[in-house]
Amino acid sequence: MTKKKQPGFATRAIHHGQEPDPLTGAVNVPMYLSSTYVQQGIGENKGYEYSRGSNPTRARLEENLASLEGGVAAKVFASGMAAINAVASLLASGDHIVCGNDLYGGTPRLFNQVLSRYGLEFSYIDTSDAANVDRVIRKTTRMVYVETPTNPLMRLSDLGAISKICRRRKVDLVVDNTFMSPYFQQPLTLGADMVVHSTTKFLNGHSDGLGGAVVCSKPEQAEQLAFLQKAAGAILAPFECWLLLRGVKTLAARMEIHDRNGREIAGFLANHKKVKKVFYPGLADHPQHELAKRQMSGFGSMITFETGSLKNANQMLKKLTVCSLAESLGGVETLISHPATMTHAALGEKGRKAIGITDGMVRISVGIENVEDILADLVQGLASI
Ligand SMILES: *Cc1c(COP(=O)(O)O)cnc(C)c1O
Repeated sequence: MTKKKQPGFATRAIHHGQEPDPLTGAVNVPMYLSSTYVQQGIGENKGYEYSRGSNPTRARLEENLASLEGGVAAKVFASGMAAINAVASLLASGDHIVCGNDLYGGTPRLFNQVLSRYGLEFSYIDTSDAANVDRVIRKTTRMVYVETPTNPLMRLSDLGAISKICRRRKVDLVVDNTFMSPYFQQPLTLGADMVVHSTTKFLNGHSDGLGGAVVCSKPEQAEQLAFLQKAAGAILAPFECWLLLRGVKTLAARMEIHDRNGREIAGFLANHKKVKKVFYPGLADHPQHELAKRQMSGFGSMITFETGSLKNANQMLKKLTVCSLAESLGGVETLISHPATMTHAALGEKGRKAIGITDGMVRISVGIENVEDILADLVQGLASI
């Protein structure tokens, strides 16, 4: 039997789950703002009963995201954190989770300040060396949870190597793929068991809707997550689903420009005399540049650089006009942030020092504006140091 060739990524982004509406032919998936659905008789319905359990707009989005990550199914939630909470809710009291030590700040906050009260146990380690993962897995370990590249230090984890260890030790590997998006990195094809996303970032891409997704490699995971959507209710609302269906149509085009602009800005920063260090996997001197080339099909647009001090960072940030000082990332506009006082403030000075985050570090999410304008803005901003 010949296997039918999958359409390309951009085609799937535009068409999978986004087929014309069977009722009217509308080329865009309609937004179904209905909490409930008429039933034809007792136990007879058209597949929809109540929108917490399922909603047609959401179902189409879930089909689309599953296709983009190469999974069997996806389930979407009200935010990235709600998606991560759902994944952790698959575990039970006494279970142990091995985590990267350089995760998005909200994730250890959820793990340590909420879920540890329910008897889940967490170990935080440097997963950039896969052997560390093997060393800390214990009898009760059920899950390994990593981000690659990390925020803000842009450290990579070798997903192929870690997934082999996980398979051998019978532990699930979950990867937060927010930074790369499925366009540049597909963890399920490298052996991961589940992928999570803050769709708020690159997938939506326009900084106008929060959301989260879990993409599954096995039907049983999807069944359990669908149950959690219904039981716990942290589902993504139809309007946000619709925004995301619209956003992903341009994901491939946006990511190409994000990547091109990212490489150019990283090269500029690496050669600037006021910049002490640049963290970007696309630079040849990044310690994991070879792994980045192997595991990702682009380097993306997340760059961290060292200005030398809090004062320097602040002076530069105040001068910028094209780059906006704000939390978040992955939108069409260039956003710049100061990890020590913003995204990583909750870690405390000691926590930041332990993993290498300094007061002079600035993180930039390069947008898709004309790159000359972003460069000119950085030139004049850096001149103030
Ligand atoms: C933003 C982010 C999250 C949290 O997502 P929300 O949509 O803000 O809840 C999780 N992981 C990463 C890597 C993120 O950047």
